Amino acid sequence: FCKTLRDNRKTIKFVLIGTTVSGVGYVAYREFYPSEVEAVTDRKKVVVLGTGWAATSFMKNLDSPKYEVQVVSPRNYFAFTPLLPSVTCGTVEARSIVEPVRNIFRKKRVDVQFSEAECFKIDAENKKVYCKSNANNNLNGQEEFVVDYDYLIIGVGAKVNTFNTPGVVENCHFLKEVEDAQKIRRTVIDCFERANLPDVSEEEKKRILHFAIVGGGPTGVEFAASLHDFVNEDLVHLYPGVKDLVKITLLEAGDHILSMFDKRITAFAEDKFQRDGIDVKTGSMVVKVDGKEISTKELKNGGKITTIPYGMAVWSTGIGTRPFIKDFMAQIGQASRRALATDEWLRVEGCNNVYALGDCATINQRKVMEDIASIFKKADKGNSGTLTVKEFQEVMDDICVRYPQVELYLKNKQMHNIADLLKEAKGDVEKESIKLNIEELKTALSKVDSQMKFLPATAQVASQQGTYLAKCFNRMEECEEKPEGPLRFRGEGRHRFKPFRYQHLGQFAPLGGEKTAAQLPGDWVSIGHSSQWLWYSVYASKQVSWRTRALVVSDWGRRFIFGRDSSRI
Ligand code: FAD
Repeated sequence: FCKTLRDNRKTIKFVLIGTTVSGVGYVAYREFYPSEVEAVTDRKKVVVLGTGWAATSFMKNLDSPKYEVQVVSPRNYFAFTPLLPSVTCGTVEARSIVEPVRNIFRKKRVDVQFSEAECFKIDAENKKVYCKSNANNNLNGQEEFVVDYDYLIIGVGAKVNTFNTPGVVENCHFLKEVEDAQKIRRTVIDCFERANLPDVSEEEKKRILHFAIVGGGPTGVEFAASLHDFVNEDLVHLYPGVKDLVKITLLEAGDHILSMFDKRITAFAEDKFQRDGIDVKTGSMVVKVDGKEISTKELKNGGKITTIPYGMAVWSTGIGTRPFIKDFMAQIGQASRRALATDEWLRVEGCNNVYALGDCATINQRKVMEDIASIFKKADKGNSGTLTVKEFQEVMDDICVRYPQVELYLKNKQMHNIADLLKEAKGDVEKESIKLNIEELKTALSKVDSQMKFLPATAQVASQQGTYLAKCFNRMEECEEKPEGPLRFRGEGRHRFKPFRYQHLGQFAPLGGEKTAAQLPGDWVSIGHSSQWLWYSVYASKQVSWRTRALVVSDWGRRFIFGRDSSRI
């Protein structure tokens, strides 16, 4: 390089001057010429509620300068939720998994304004949203404001579901937000420090060091595994006096943990937890939590009530609807549903120009149900009203191929064919043949429809929906000018865009000890160290910015070299 410099001094000089001139020219251009955004007049106002997976992926993919966007969320950052269980034990730091949303929006050629506030009311008739700042300081009555919109995008996620179990809110930790994960991390260390104080009885030490996790879904299981690793790889060396008193219990009301995964993964996880000494109690429904004890009801043992002393409890049993979304649903005639119903284009049913995506929404499967009913009708060639079990299974296979979400739903519910589904809906199912009355079937399916949320509540669904909707918005004007639709969309039914189709890319269940279970498309299952490396690469690649990617990878490296930090800060 030095030789080249010596020999080609002149060339290099010219290259440097050229680069400087073009750099200065570019800066001058950005300074003195109106930007692309400013050049567009008559922009439509899009209000986006939330900065989670759905809303952020919408914002990242929206690139039409034809919109003026106002984002409203109580969080001014995006959080990479799949790594929250790692934050609870200090495997990664909280700041490594969050990215300020202003950093994300800054790079866009769309005019974006962000307000750190919470929406508390939606008035779809007058196209207004009512918001309230969540700043702690006194804003002299200016904490409330109203925003008008042309289009409203609702991506506010969900809240924790306690099923109104007494004492849960007061005594349990949740694992939903970054603050929750930080609080859990402090409480774990706190329990170890308290158990190490002099004059604490052996029995009390045991209680304090009993960690109870309620809910055997992916979050509960991953947290149990992370906590086990934290205790066994780091804390036992620092607190040798109490290491034999630590106990982790996982309480699950169903028959198995990880019931939405393949049976092989469920069995492996249950075996591994047993080997690791994590006590998995299935068929145990928590009915009450007080300051020091959890009461469980054994679902199979005649409803026997047992009380379990605990030091820290983490509640992770699923999600529910946010109160202001419930009010909005009542306003638009959806009071009986559990999440905002949209059509397959993510438009909220019963109002105009309102879209909902992510955990707060569900695609109304009425059309899917009608389709399923017609598949059944076709299979009943002799019009006898019955199908043999074999014919019935074939129909089911056909349905699952066409609608992967049906298969996912059945798996989630541990229902392995539609007979189970109909049984739940009190349909008429016999052993040898299936009695088939199309009208009854439709009624049964519509009952199920009102209760079910076909698509799983995952980041994968939310971010795919955000990307899909942004692409629709990017083409909106073009499609309005040419109502026939551009060539790609011509002839696609009753709407100018293709409906949203979810593409399932697989799911992971980290089980601790550098082992992960992966269920990939095509029911390909892999469990062990290799899947753990796949997990590392996927989660590193899915980070929202290079900054968080670098931080997360360096946290993993730090943990390998120095272990996890157990300071209680
Ligand atoms: P969220 O990401 O929850 O975002 C909601 C947004 O709305 C937030 O910014 C919030 O501040 C904002 N908001 C709330 N109330 C208001 C209001 N009143 N007004 C305005 N804004 C509001 N999924 C996976 O696919 N893989 C995983 O491995 C995985 N692991 C997970 C681990 C944990 C511990 C948790 C909790 C979840 C995990 N998930 C995982 C699920 C995933 O995080 C959710 O499905 C996803 O976050 C849903 O995205 P969302 O945009 O709908 O909601």
